[in-house]
Amino acid sequence: MSLSPVRRLAASRGVRFGAQMIFVLLFGLVIVAGLVGTSIAAKSFATVGTWMIWWIGVIFLILCFGKVWCYVCPWNALAEWTKHGALWGVRLDAPGEAAWPRRWRNLGPAIAFFLLFVWLELGVGLTMDPLFTAVAAVLLLTLTVVSALVYRRAPFCRYACPVGRISGLYALFAPVELRARDRRVCRRCRSKDCLTGNQRGYGCPTGQYPGTMDRNTYCILCLECVKTCPRDNLALNLRPFGADLVKAFRARGDEAYLALVLLSLVIFHAVTMVPPWFQLVDLLEFVTGWGYTGAFSLLMAVMLAVPLLAHRLATGIGWRLARERGVPRRRLFVTYAYAMIPLALFFHLAHNTMHLAMEFAKVVPVLSDPLGMGWNLFGTAGWIPPASLLPLSTVHGLQELLLGLGIAASAGVLAVCSRRLYPPAQAVRAAAPMLVVLGGYLAFGWWLFSLPMAMRMLL
Ligand code: SF4
Ligand code: SF4
Repeated sequence: MSLSPVRRLAASRGVRFGAQMIFVLLFGLVIVAGLVGTSIAAKSFATVGTWMIWWIGVIFLILCFGKVWCYVCPWNALAEWTKHGALWGVRLDAPGEAAWPRRWRNLGPAIAFFLLFVWLELGVGLTMDPLFTAVAAVLLLTLTVVSALVYRRAPFCRYACPVGRISGLYALFAPVELRARDRRVCRRCRSKDCLTGNQRGYGCPTGQYPGTMDRNTYCILCLECVKTCPRDNLALNLRPFGADLVKAFRARGDEAYLALVLLSLVIFHAVTMVPPWFQLVDLLEFVTGWGYTGAFSLLMAVMLAVPLLAHRLATGIGWRLARERGVPRRRLFVTYAYAMIPLALFFHLAHNTMHLAMEFAKVVPVLSDPLGMGWNLFGTAGWIPPASLLPLSTVHGLQELLLGLGIAASAGVLAVCSRRLYPPAQAVRAAAPMLVVLGGYLAFGWWLFSLPMAMRMLL
């Protein structure tokens, strides 16, 4: 098998091990900083590295490279190394032969973890607490390792990891894909080494079969199939943005609910950082006497429900306007939910653009003193970061641009989804209420991004 340099790199176990090891070491630094370092969030690598760098930057990575985070994910790396008892070699006699419970073979666990995570993050102050951040990271690691040891393949990545599943939906929009070069070769292939594994690599950890895989959602870009395929039938392709969203696919209810929850929580995230939010929480605390966590939880539930109800209402009206009973109402609800993915992605990017401008540079002094113990490893501990890397007017302009792109992309996907279900005139009528909802998101987003945004960790 003759290999091009790029393919040789992709097929090398050592390259992935090296990339994973870098992130495992950084992950270790997060744990150590959280457990034994300072409790001041703005001075700890646990909180700055996790929330200001990784959590903010990973969304930009997904936009450009799809699920590349999963290639280096330290949770997955440590789970794989433990399961296989090998760092970069291949040992096919791994433990964990139980089947993942049938009732959990959907994205319900990922949605539950995502809701819990946002509640802990914003309602309980996870991002402000280095120790809490480290404990949460260790708990997530424990779940990943235990599920890998007990069950076949990597069920936590496939069904439960909120980062993996959110990036899985966003990656439908990404300009990178891994696909079989020729599906006819897969159909003729008897060994299916990509599923079973061989001496060169493991079977696909999320159970994907390249012969039929036509979307990015569940491929974690581990490149094991590139290594195992004896016919060199895998390729990493560049493609137009949004390619997976505009072709025919089987819409799934669990993916649709995750897409809507994602949009709700991305907007909720931005709402919790502007002045009217603080006034609203104060008012609710005063009126109910529930304290901050109670008031926050109630408002989070309301903010979660509004986009879901708007989607339900708009698809219900659209279904009646289309007057085509051959298409069930639920199908419209589920299919149109995919059109919200670009909006969620670009809203997320717009929100994170402000975080990047105002917080990214704060890692520089923390790198010299990651535990907040008075070290000065690289001579940057005393450096005072600028208030913002870009003028605020530029950041607001970028946010409006990203929001506009998200709305345009969502409207485009909506049009394609609608045309797939109906003839032209009915497609317009069915999609019209959703276009009104998109207009509402545009107006709300513009108003939201015009407000001053409070950063959580002020230096
Ligand atoms: S990807 Fe390779 S190993 Fe898998 S079915 Fe296709 S040809 Fe066979
Ligand atoms: S399809 Fe290939 S790259 Fe994607 S998760 Fe499966 S083995 Fe990894």
